[in-house]
Amino acid sequence: MDYYVKADCFLLEDGEKRDSYLHITNDRFIGFTEIIPADAEVVDWSGYTVAPGLFDTHIHGVQGYDIMDGSVEAVKQISASLLQIGVTRFLPTTLTSSKEDLKQAIDAIRSAVADGLEGAQSEGVFLEGPYFTEKHKGAQNPGYFRDPSIKEFQEWQQLADGTIVKIALAPEREGAFEFIREVSADGVLASIAHTDADYACCHEAVDAGARNYVHLFNGMKGIHHREPGVAGAALSDERVFAELICDGHHVHPTMARFAYRVKRDNLVMITDCMRAGLMPDGNYHLGEFPVVVDGGIALTESGSLAGSTLRLIDGVYNLQKWTDDPLYRIWHRASLSPAASLGKDKELGSIAPGKVADYVVVNQQLEIQAVVVAGKEKFRK
Ligand SMILES: [Zn+2]
Repeated sequence: MDYYVKADCFLLEDGEKRDSYLHITNDRFIGFTEIIPADAEVVDWSGYTVAPGLFDTHIHGVQGYDIMDGSVEAVKQISASLLQIGVTRFLPTTLTSSKEDLKQAIDAIRSAVADGLEGAQSEGVFLEGPYFTEKHKGAQNPGYFRDPSIKEFQEWQQLADGTIVKIALAPEREGAFEFIREVSADGVLASIAHTDADYACCHEAVDAGARNYVHLFNGMKGIHHREPGVAGAALSDERVFAELICDGHHVHPTMARFAYRVKRDNLVMITDCMRAGLMPDGNYHLGEFPVVVDGGIALTESGSLAGSTLRLIDGVYNLQKWTDDPLYRIWHRASLSPAASLGKDKELGSIAPGKVADYVVVNQQLEIQAVVVAGKEKFRK
């Protein structure tokens, strides 16, 4: 497979490239050229923009399916659904749940990936929980919260064939620092979430190896000028990434803009999408909790936000509007920064020579026209 993509504009890490040809061989980007061979195969997207494939590192479900369904079909359907909204890579994300349900979900992800996913590709499992703190539980079930156990984690890791790449926990739990040290040493992204920790505790967790804060401002102690809290620790520490849900409901646009200005390349746009994404308003469930979705906002009976129905590309659209920064900069916070948070940015996340050829074709309104995964067109409007 060897072809050239023609487009008005390509979004690159450091700017835009116009009126050029992007050369692709097999599954890789080769580079840009102004002159192509006479017999070259050209995919003509004149009038459109070509951007990197989006990478959602925190997504529970979409279009009626959830990773916690614990079925191979759910994982495959989520992979397929994500394509049409421009996501080429994702981390299937679990919830706090019973030991049996969690094992079943991990097993289903492993089987589905082994079978081969037709759409967006899994880059590993994200375990959101179960080592959390009740005060900021969000839609996680506190009945299953407990202290971290490396032995338990290793069992999951074995079941997952070593594909767990990220785990979220509350650092104030007994044994958390040791746990963070151990999993980080194995290359797993230890992430801070659903926590009431103070600033000092968060700082110590990062010293131990934690490098990511999950959905900044949500499910965590907020910021105070005399006690920076979890949010203050996330914003002020240059060693860490911070995830942000840019739907305008989870975080006020002003605070989203503020977080973006402070975290810069270490801001990771995510969706935290649940099964009601790409679905009408109505009654759903998240884990064992009933959830009502009204106006696209998912709430539990107690009024906690229960994930989102956000499309990552709409997050890009929103953040661009809120910040007025160039599109290429915002876009990479949903492709390159997610990859970088997992140490995968040498392979994924931007249009650059040698990287995997994941890309999305959009029009001026950011409506998706085509999606390509590893050089192969998988979706066309
Ligand atoms: Zn959460």
